[in-house]
Amino acid sequence: MLQLRPNCECCDTDLPPQSTDARICSFECTFCAACAEQKLAGKCPNCGGELVTRPRRPAEKLARNPASTERVLKPQGCPVTA
Ligand SMILES: [Zn+2]
Ligand SMILES: [Zn+2]
Repeated sequence: MLQLRPNCECCDTDLPPQSTDARICSFECTFCAACAEQKLAGKCPNCGGELVTRPRRPAEKLARNPASTERVLKPQGCPVTA
């Protein structure tokens, strides 16, 4: 199951499961749209994979399959590659 992480790994912005601003790579590294586009040029800084819009999980599914609450954050922030 896709891990819906609660924040951007670069700037710690909250990304609730219904957010349309969440971007994710195939390893579930999660970023906000602003970081993904402006800092990272659409490429994951961890694995080099592409960042795409995170699909939203329907609310009724979230009740039984809740989003992750574990915040993942890069302590040094993200390198600017854009
Ligand atoms: Zn961010
Ligand atoms: Zn990644």
